[in-house]
Amino acid sequence: MPDTSSVDYLIVGGGIAGTTAADGIRKKADGRVMIVTDEPHPLYSRVRLPDYVAGQIPRERVFMKDEGWYRERNIQLVRERSVVRLSPADRSVQLSDGSTVRYGTLLLAMGGAARRLSCEGADWSGVHYLRTIDDADRIRAAIPASSRAVVIGGGFIGLELARCFAQHGRETTLVLMEPWFWPHLLDQESGAMIERTLRDHGIDVRYSEQLQSIRNDGSFGHAVMAGGRSFACDILGVGIGISTLHPFVKDAGLDIRKGIVTDEHFRASAPSVFAAGDVAEFFDLTRGRSNQIGNWSNAMEQGKVAGLNMAGEQTPYRFVSNYVITVFGLAIGFAGDPTAQPATEIIKRGSPESGSYTRIFVRDGVINGATVLNAPKDNVTIGQLIKQAIRVDHARAQLADPAFDLKSLLQANGNP
Ligand SMILES: Cc1cc2nc3c(=O)[nH]c(=O)nc-3n(C[C@H](O)[C@H](O)[C@H](O)COP(=O)(O)OP(=O)(O)OC[C@H]3O[C@@H](n4cnc5c(N)ncnc54)[C@H](O)[C@@H]3O)c2cc1C
Repeated sequence: MPDTSSVDYLIVGGGIAGTTAADGIRKKADGRVMIVTDEPHPLYSRVRLPDYVAGQIPRERVFMKDEGWYRERNIQLVRERSVVRLSPADRSVQLSDGSTVRYGTLLLAMGGAARRLSCEGADWSGVHYLRTIDDADRIRAAIPASSRAVVIGGGFIGLELARCFAQHGRETTLVLMEPWFWPHLLDQESGAMIERTLRDHGIDVRYSEQLQSIRNDGSFGHAVMAGGRSFACDILGVGIGISTLHPFVKDAGLDIRKGIVTDEHFRASAPSVFAAGDVAEFFDLTRGRSNQIGNWSNAMEQGKVAGLNMAGEQTPYRFVSNYVITVFGLAIGFAGDPTAQPATEIIKRGSPESGSYTRIFVRDGVINGATVLNAPKDNVTIGQLIKQAIRVDHARAQLADPAFDLKSLLQANGNP
């Protein structure tokens, strides 16, 4: 049992947000830094899990830190222990082994847990989720004995699971509730580009279907839909979102909505308590409202800023979200706020037929978001245009012209 009685900085969750924060604190401040994680591993990349499951990279390439990294920085990593109770009044947490840790400053960085199915048959051994490397190991172990896969959920994890099964040569059906891919972010034409890519790789895509139950006879199952259709499978992947509500946070009386509510410094509603990464519903200065984002670069940047503030700085978070995910070579990018709000003008650049299709969202004369399919360079430049709030009122025709280099809009405003 490690001596866990009293630390200056306590971090709950050893993912990218928690680890980056610990590293940042250590660079700025003395004192004891402890990370408590319920997983048995040092930091690894969740982003690389699909490539590992698909058989494209070996398991060791998923890991980002080894034990030496923590030792060298004098960061204590307590594994396989969860925080089960938080008492902000006496600045302490209780761990699953019954021990108590007192803290000076606390960071909550517990990320999210894969949402579980609750329908009849959900406990079938053929059902798999993908959030942790242990989940990934279980899927890898199950794939050799499988021949037919069904994936429930058309979000990013569902897409990745379908890719993994297809890359192992399994007959794969991807079942979505929605009428096309990601209707809250993409128009139907963008969704159709994703569908074509998946179909080109042998994946059967079914829309507007809702799982009602899973019937199985042990090794073989049927995913039965509300409308009566059923899809046979011997492995069933589930990607229906994550939950970022952790019961001990609610019990502690912190402000929560979908996540833990914080200000732009990642301060939560109790003294000396911060929250960052997927779990934080932070005040987003770039959007002027509260926001929760579930992607890697945000979690990392949030961990960085939260760490600085825990060590005594007053650094507000002002990060324009910008990320690209690639499925079978199709780069799907989002910059800024990728949800077209009612007052948004949408400028289309390229076309689905040309293979490269960007939708740029303009509001009050500046770009505030974009969805970018197969134009990663546009993604980066649009991110810069958003960050610098470059006026584009006069440049609508250029924005719509795929031959026009968007970088020149930066240069025209005196930027290199
Ligand atoms: C398969 C997969 C692929 C992804 N691909 C991409 C991608 O391509 N691009 C992208 O931008 N994002 C991607 N993401 C999302 C990205 O990985 C997350 O946004 C990021 O990992 C969030 O980091 P975090 O540190 O906030 O939380 P997490 O990484 O979830 O880490 C939180 C840690 O806290 C632990 N924990 C939870 N509760 C407790 C407790 N009570 N006590 C102790 N420990 C606890 C958890 O077990 C976990 O280890 C992917 C996610 C997955 C699962």
